[in-house]
Amino acid sequence: MSGSPPHRQRQEVQRLLDALHTETRRSWTLMEVCGGQTHAILRHGLDQLIPPQLELIHGPGCPVCVTAAETIDRALALAARPEVILCTYGDMLRVPGTGPSHLLEARANGADVRVITAPLDVLAVARSHPGRQVVFFAVGFETTAPATALLAHQAWSGGAQNLSLLVSHVRVPPAMEAILTAPECRVQGFLAAGHVCAVMGRTEYEPIAAQHRRPIVITGFEPLDLLEGMLRAVRQLERGEARVEDAYPRAGAGVGNASARALITKVFTRCDQHWRGLGMLPGSGLRLRPPYDALDAARRFPSAARPDTDTDTDTDTDTEGCISGLVLQGLARPDACPRFGRGCSPERPLGAPMVSAEGACAAYWRYRERT
Ligand code: SF4
Repeated sequence: MSGSPPHRQRQEVQRLLDALHTETRRSWTLMEVCGGQTHAILRHGLDQLIPPQLELIHGPGCPVCVTAAETIDRALALAARPEVILCTYGDMLRVPGTGPSHLLEARANGADVRVITAPLDVLAVARSHPGRQVVFFAVGFETTAPATALLAHQAWSGGAQNLSLLVSHVRVPPAMEAILTAPECRVQGFLAAGHVCAVMGRTEYEPIAAQHRRPIVITGFEPLDLLEGMLRAVRQLERGEARVEDAYPRAGAGVGNASARALITKVFTRCDQHWRGLGMLPGSGLRLRPPYDALDAARRFPSAARPDTDTDTDTDTDTEGCISGLVLQGLARPDACPRFGRGCSPERPLGAPMVSAEGACAAYWRYRERT
């Protein structure tokens, strides 16, 4: 592997594992925030290689999984309108709303639901269907918000009359705050998502680390990135330190992307947002600000799409024994769910963490032996 990039070299992995085993003297619990990190940890078996005193808890960092059931209901209501073409990411199609219905079923029943891979694709759909109303169901963390913002800006400045957005973007720091303030919280340090920080930088994390006395290490997605993040977090914990460290400098995660942040700020303003599994989190969402709010699907179709802030319901529907709410809060592992492998699988998912390619239940299904 001498030709491998430095972050993939096997001897480096072993060096970090040796350091982790030597330097982990007490029991510590770390949460990796991002679903991509969860998948990488399980895919490479890192959780089996690290010291037994070091426990990894899987966080709520899967945007598909945390999209509120009520928001799925709104997308279903919009898709049911004959004039609407609803565009969204493929993972959203099988996530259930407050009932068992999902967008894939709606499409099978005649709704015009289309999968896109990038938000600007929606502009092309709108241009090629001037007689239809095209709605983009936008989900994701700070990583995908700039691309949604660019779509909104181009649609608004281009005067697109037939394009609107159902926005359900969420911000990571309020979720970390909510996890840390929960009475049952066991998280002693975070591995923060490197791609989110590549947009947002580290500044939002500094007050969380200081106030809650928890180390936060910005971490990438390769085995070496993750082990480096764990080692740095353990070193801080062993020394009684709690600060933000950037273990992903090759992505510029410490400073972020000022242009992307400016685009987010130009198009969105913060709002309270309901998360599946975590409930309503103040300031955790993004909604369109004037003049871009003219593109809000809730305005164009008031009966079908209201913003999350209008709802006071908290319907984290754990259907048929699904404990996805506990999984998303890091309070239960997927293989502790009584339905894991017993009625719930990627082919027949009962909850969003099994539907999504980034979901924790899907990771366990894919990479762990099932009993
Ligand atoms: S394994 Fe299935 S039923 Fe259990 S929490 Fe995950 S998605 Fe829900």
